[in-house]
Amino acid sequence: MNDGRLSAESHEQAVEEAVRSFSVGQSNLDVLVVGGGVTGAGIAVDAATRGLVTCLVEADDWASGTSSRSSKLVHGGLRYLRTLDFALIREALIERNLLVTKLAPHLVVPQEFVFPLKRWQRPIIGAGVMLYEILGSGKTRTPRLPRHHHIGKQRLHRVFAGLNPKLYQGAITYWDATVDDARLVLSLVRTARAAGAHMLSRVKVVRLLDDGKGAVRGAAVVDLESGREFEIEAKSVIVATGVWTEETQRMAAESGGLRVLASKGVHIVVPRDAIPGGAAIVAPTKSSVLFVIPWDDHWLIGTTDTPWRLDVSIPLATASDIEYLLEQTNAILEKPITPDQIVGVFTGLRPLLQKGVKPGTRTSKVSREHTVASPAPGLTAIAGGKLTTYRLMARDAVDHALGERAEQMPSVTDRTPIAGAEHFEEVERESAFWSERFGWNDAMVAHLLRRFGDKAREIVEICEKDEANAKPLGAAPDYLRAEIVHAVTHEGALHIDDILARRTHIAFQVADRGIAAVEEVTSIVAPLLGWDGDRRDREVRKYSTLASAEMYARELHDDRDAIRAFLMHLGRDAEYVGAAGRASIGWNTPDAPQ
Ligand code: FAD
Repeated sequence: MNDGRLSAESHEQAVEEAVRSFSVGQSNLDVLVVGGGVTGAGIAVDAATRGLVTCLVEADDWASGTSSRSSKLVHGGLRYLRTLDFALIREALIERNLLVTKLAPHLVVPQEFVFPLKRWQRPIIGAGVMLYEILGSGKTRTPRLPRHHHIGKQRLHRVFAGLNPKLYQGAITYWDATVDDARLVLSLVRTARAAGAHMLSRVKVVRLLDDGKGAVRGAAVVDLESGREFEIEAKSVIVATGVWTEETQRMAAESGGLRVLASKGVHIVVPRDAIPGGAAIVAPTKSSVLFVIPWDDHWLIGTTDTPWRLDVSIPLATASDIEYLLEQTNAILEKPITPDQIVGVFTGLRPLLQKGVKPGTRTSKVSREHTVASPAPGLTAIAGGKLTTYRLMARDAVDHALGERAEQMPSVTDRTPIAGAEHFEEVERESAFWSERFGWNDAMVAHLLRRFGDKAREIVEICEKDEANAKPLGAAPDYLRAEIVHAVTHEGALHIDDILARRTHIAFQVADRGIAAVEEVTSIVAPLLGWDGDRRDREVRKYSTLASAEMYARELHDDRDAIRAFLMHLGRDAEYVGAAGRASIGWNTPDAPQ
């Protein structure tokens, strides 16, 4: 049975199959999707479940771009009330409700938010939250997302004791949802594969093919694992490459297409005991909104919003970003958090459509709405939007690519549960026996159910085969050894970073980017991936060098200086990030690290 599982072996098979079945002149491929973030993975699910022959190529790991670096909210965006984007909010809230109730109830979970109020704010914010709730109501509304409440000062102290009591008169509590963004993408990838799509990570598009009459007919790609180059022919190519959109479009058309602006967003991570409180906080700042969100045993604090004009492959946090987040957070807390409490930092780039942006406009004013365009015949490009609305983006992109045929084969994703959701309730009931069987506490069982849904059975099977796998990792006890095995045998992890940053979040939840866990994780995966001693050393060195280069860059205040410091630190290992980083800071001189 094809349950959508992915592994190094299935990667090789998928490459072989693509070479055999989709080569020029013999291909029956309907859609080639470029980009394995949430948008591309959503498109692959949409296209495959309509019955189209579908292939997706992702240059790096699944969700390695923006889709693993978000604030992890599935929401309408309270702040868009200010710009009167009611249709945008309603559309996103309906998607939120659908994900919470039907499509991904294990992954997209309700979360209580607290909006603390200063004296004069209650009527205005109260009206806004009520409108937000009305926009999210209707037949998709779910009791899992309770109604909002006005609370006074004392109750606020009980709900979130860490807030500075001198600042606030009370609060409004309301409900939205959170998601593990990287795992959402992985689940979509497995869903697409189970529906028959060919899913290839680490396969990069280097050129778009044309049919000699100006129409795009596929792509020349390289498998970055083996170095093998080959061509894929398809009736239609859909580009979902986020902040790389312009670069990908340029392979087909010199001008035209979507214009995408990158805006940098940084998050910091601190342990839960650093801030006393239960719910999530949303508090407006001068230029944006501050979120303090429970994230496993940690708080996720974000975010910044600044234009990024350097290499989009290496977005880096600077000392200024971190200072800004600490300053904004400490402005609302009674007991300030300190830099040494920060265990993790991550940085993402929002792909914002440039449509309508005049020079000098701040990027936070650009609409998050998505747009689908055809930069050339046979080529569809989609960008903008947000994680929450990935399904609508996917539907619109496939409709656009199909043109008139879309009516005969409409999207079915509003009734297609994503991997992990289908038998979730059944597995939730079964899970009552796991604690006794493996000695796990309730928190561990909940962690497995939320991360894997019904696929938690796969983790149990791994533990049944070898009980040593039921034990937690020494340096990251929130995760089981079985989860590391599963990342390789079922979720297509091929390198250490895939496991530490996206299958798990050890890279951001354990200090020093999880370097303490690298040895143990490597000893588990090396035999599964067939790594010999040399390969193992190379993989460890690559992870550790990139991690320490990122931390080194964080000492600097300016983006350009941070990239320079990052590349300097990599030194002879700079090939890990390619030449684009050097070029983006105009550093093509002989003194640049080669
Ligand atoms: P990406 O995830 O970047 O995927 C594009 C992929 O294309 C990459 O994996 C890249 O490797 C691949 N690619 C590029 N070039 C090639 C090539 N030549 N060949 C093959 N593959 C290629 N949204 C929400 O709904 N809620 C939030 O709370 C939220 N918070 C956010 C916070 C921050 C700081 C940021 C930055 C964004 C946030 N968003 C949020 C927005 C959301 O994360 C993005 O809109 C979404 O992840 C974009 O997904 P994508 O698939 O379009 O792009």
